[in-house]
Amino acid sequence: MRDVSALPKAHLHVHLESTVRWDTLRDIAAANGVALPTGGDGGGLAFTGFRGFADHNSLVRSCLRRPEDFARVAREFCADEAAQGTRYAEVTFTAAAHGERLGRPRMPLEAVLHGLAEGRAAHGIEVRVLLDHSRRRSVDRFRRTLDLAVEHADAGVVAIGVAGEESYPLAPFAGVVADAAAAGVPLVHHAGEACGPDSVREALTLGRTRRLGHGIRVLDDARLVAEVRDRGIPLEVCPSSNVALGFAGALADHPLPRLRDAGLAVTLNTDVPAIIGTTLTGEYERVRDAFGYTDDDLADLARAGVDASFAPADTRARLHRGIDAWLAAPAA
Ligand SMILES: [Zn+2]
Repeated sequence: MRDVSALPKAHLHVHLESTVRWDTLRDIAAANGVALPTGGDGGGLAFTGFRGFADHNSLVRSCLRRPEDFARVAREFCADEAAQGTRYAEVTFTAAAHGERLGRPRMPLEAVLHGLAEGRAAHGIEVRVLLDHSRRRSVDRFRRTLDLAVEHADAGVVAIGVAGEESYPLAPFAGVVADAAAAGVPLVHHAGEACGPDSVREALTLGRTRRLGHGIRVLDDARLVAEVRDRGIPLEVCPSSNVALGFAGALADHPLPRLRDAGLAVTLNTDVPAIIGTTLTGEYERVRDAFGYTDDDLADLARAGVDASFAPADTRARLHRGIDAWLAAPAA
């Protein structure tokens, strides 16, 4: 078995707001006069079930206020990812919502991009940004999300998409989707996590999605599996998140092996790592333990992540060389 932290990895599905270190959250809360809950694991910040997840998200949102808050979490994201062998990341950030909440539409995104640039310089990791939008929120805000993506494309914003409760349809966002496609901004939506094949079909057709955020419920429909496979639409699979949020049973029962056996392009991700106490390296180790994966399997997962990314060709080639070198090195 080789050291998974030395495997060059691409991390494609991770929400910046859910990567904030506990200590950082405490610092930022104190600086902004926000009271945090006390007691219990993680200083009262322990996450239990979906309700706890939603509560935690709103708590993080209430803490993040100043440009330095956003820049710090972006910088620390780079440090934490680089430390575990992530060489390339596409981090999701709900930029328009923060901007609206704070009455400064561009500030949160620009502060994050600034922090990521500092993190890249300090840690050598390459990071790009996906802007997400909650399906429960307004079409106008999704349009502002597109505007932010277009304005900051040169600074590393690579795509937009909708996330959140999948029971809310994509149809109201069709106009913005069409405008994004016309502007050359790729779309990446969450789908097939809580809802079934219909949500995946909607993301593929109306949503023009280039990848499926989660997508695990594609397995409910064999014809859809064939379509997703034949179109080469990659899945961003987040096993520990699915288990923690109740979208899968125990890790041993997770559909990851069945998705791979079906010939789908499966990438491995964390989704909300700080909240559920995992890391990308941790996910690779967990699936190795749960499914008996070999280093070849882990290298295949890493390659799938590189291939599914929006990274430029030279970055992808470099990552592939690194994965090959990891596999060629003698195992411990
Ligand atoms: Zn997600």
